[in-house]
Amino acid sequence: MGKAILAFAEQRDGKLKKNAYEVISTGKKLADEIKSELVSLLIGSGIEGLASELGSYGSDKVLVADSEILKLYSSEGYSSVLVDAVKKCDAGIVLLPASSMGKDLAPAAAAKLETGVAMDCIGVAFKDGKLEATRPVYAGKIMTKVGCSKEPFFITLRPNVFSVSAPSPDKKASVEKINVGFSAESIRAKVKEIVAAAGGKMDLTEASVIVAGGRGMKSGENFKVLEELADALGGVVGASRSVVDAGWRPHSDQVGQTGKVVSPNLYIACGVSGAIQHLAGMSSSKCIVAINKDSDAPIFQMADYGIVGDLFQVVPVLAQEVKKVLGK
Ligand SMILES: Cc1cc2nc3c(=O)[nH]c(=O)nc-3n(C[C@H](O)[C@H](O)[C@H](O)COP(=O)(O)OP(=O)(O)OC[C@H]3O[C@@H](n4cnc5c(N)ncnc54)[C@H](O)[C@@H]3O)c2cc1C
Repeated sequence: MGKAILAFAEQRDGKLKKNAYEVISTGKKLADEIKSELVSLLIGSGIEGLASELGSYGSDKVLVADSEILKLYSSEGYSSVLVDAVKKCDAGIVLLPASSMGKDLAPAAAAKLETGVAMDCIGVAFKDGKLEATRPVYAGKIMTKVGCSKEPFFITLRPNVFSVSAPSPDKKASVEKINVGFSAESIRAKVKEIVAAAGGKMDLTEASVIVAGGRGMKSGENFKVLEELADALGGVVGASRSVVDAGWRPHSDQVGQTGKVVSPNLYIACGVSGAIQHLAGMSSSKCIVAINKDSDAPIFQMADYGIVGDLFQVVPVLAQEVKKVLGK
């Protein structure tokens, strides 16, 4: 039996994030392969009730650090708990989501344990008994296979890339509490307030459909046509950096190297040229549709489907047709 696999189950406001199911399901597959134990870790306040759900997704054991001090995320607090959890279950592999939280937490805990971390991975597999993670580098131009010469090997998984297994309601996990051995005062950097974006829009990294607009949109008001198509498809609107720099959309909408990395089932790029820095953020989307009036735009090289035309003519027709097909 191999060393335990520890999967960090991210939650916000007492609800598991979609990426938590992806991390647990991936951990379960790996654990089955090396016949090891899958241990999940829950950190927060008032979150103990989530443990049973983690059992149904394949966790053998759930470690729970439940304390008012951990209500809001802090690098120091959460990484200290994660390090404790790694030691407690003697983990050989630690999986986290490549979310904002996971991207901060994984290196912080790995540094404390003086081990390695592979960030934003899109594949994990055992090769000759050693775990190899696949991660895109140079803005997605090259895929590298990364191993780690030390244990535990920390890996963050790109959201929306890894599949979620069906739950088995009968499967139960044992639950063990982790005592929080530090005081609120000992945490030097604290989150004082979280200001939610207006409208409670779904985070781009979790959306299964994204309709993105580029400079070809010509103004912020024109994004209404994209909102309509996104609403019809149950998706959200994203943007290129040019759009964000022009002040047409907030930075939270930006896709790309200096924005968010997304992997939706469907990415519709409207008036986006397809610069390498934009592609870095969306090239792992499962289906890419490009609408651009320039047939030589680089985005068409990446697209599964392309429409050469004026987006102001194409998008409204597309939205109408989608509504008709979906009966909206
Ligand atoms: C360090 C660095 C980091 C960067 N990070 C990012 C990043 O995170 N994300 C990002 O997006 N960019 C990023 N960029 C910027 C990037 O290089 C490009 O400048 C940017 O992506 C271009 O945005 P765009 O495609 O909207 O605009 P453009 O390149 O100007 O393309 C506009 C497109 O719209 C088309 N168009 C115009 N009118 C219409 C119409 N009516 N119908 C259909 N098509 C039309 C045009 O044919 C054109 O292809 C970064 C750059 C640097 C140097």
